[in-house]
Amino acid sequence: MSIARLADLANATSAPRLVFKVGSALLVGPGGRPRREWLAGLVGEIAAARARGQQVIVVSSGAIALGAARLGLAKGGRGSLADAQAAAAVGQIGLAGLWSELLGVHGLTAAQLLLTLEDLEDRRRYLNAAATLGRLLKAGAVPVINENDSVATAEIRFGDNDRLAARVAQAGGADAVVLFSDVDGLYDRNPAEPDAQLLPFVEGVTEAVHAMASGASSSGMGSGGMTSKLQAAEIAERAGIALAIVNGTHSRPFARALANDTGTVFLPTRKDGARKAWLGGRQRMNGALVVDAGCAKALAKGGSLLASGILSVEGEFQRGDPVGIRDESGKPVAQGLAEYGSAEIERIRGTRSEDQRALLGYAPRSAVVHRDQLVLL
Ligand code: GLU
Repeated sequence: MSIARLADLANATSAPRLVFKVGSALLVGPGGRPRREWLAGLVGEIAAARARGQQVIVVSSGAIALGAARLGLAKGGRGSLADAQAAAAVGQIGLAGLWSELLGVHGLTAAQLLLTLEDLEDRRRYLNAAATLGRLLKAGAVPVINENDSVATAEIRFGDNDRLAARVAQAGGADAVVLFSDVDGLYDRNPAEPDAQLLPFVEGVTEAVHAMASGASSSGMGSGGMTSKLQAAEIAERAGIALAIVNGTHSRPFARALANDTGTVFLPTRKDGARKAWLGGRQRMNGALVVDAGCAKALAKGGSLLASGILSVEGEFQRGDPVGIRDESGKPVAQGLAEYGSAEIERIRGTRSEDQRALLGYAPRSAVVHRDQLVLL
């Protein structure tokens, strides 16, 4: 049984494992104080899900906002990277304590995991995090995850917990992600416009869907906004995971959204194998290959990327590194792991395999990116 509507998210058969992502604006009130009562309600919903036979992984923001208040830092601790790192170090203690205490009221054990982008981008570390999550869930704990903001630097951070939640869902083998937001879901245009319609379903995050979202985070406290939610939906979709955006501002928001059938569900459109799903969700590429139209078409049909279709190479990378593949107009087509470093690809691009031995000085590999190491976007 697969997920086809919001109500299926409360069904232990169609969604045995959920990720609940809670943003800073919901968790932290004016003056930087935690919104205990609201959180107690949400924790009650987690306990209810557990009683139905569902497992829940929490991705919780709020460390920076809580810590900034405690340290008296301006701009909610987001004035500089150093401020955010310091604020997170202070706030995370309180945040974890809060979850632990409130889950404890229901006899549930909280387990804290602080992850960096690299923990999920590197295959070995990703599998390690996945194993830890699996063990915790089996032991009955509720993992409460945040980005390790105190050590993450600007270049290597998610920066928003929406994408982190989608990646965690992959690593944790979840069936669905619920992003609790301050809006009801995705609207077909700026929700401030009178004719704006809430979209109950989205099948595939197309360019038209992206055009409906604006980048601004309405609360000014978190860093998400609809753009990062759509990026999260794309990651989830590629991994065959459903993702819902619901309004978290009410008390007991999960039950409310399901009862009113109000929210947006991004339905998963494919089910890649676990390894390909991980590859498709990778956030950082070490370089890019621009390909001609014939090559882009061949890739869409499931082919490997051959040197003959490569027009240009961008960036410096090694064999085995992740690269983006774009068409001539700049549109992302795929991403995958390169069989050659950038310098070698520069030498053989535009050539056929019979000519490559002389150019490389050794027998060429079967492709520049093999289809087993390639995910269409
Ligand atoms: N990890 C950040 C925090 O705990 C929040 C990131 C976000 O705004 O999504 O404060």
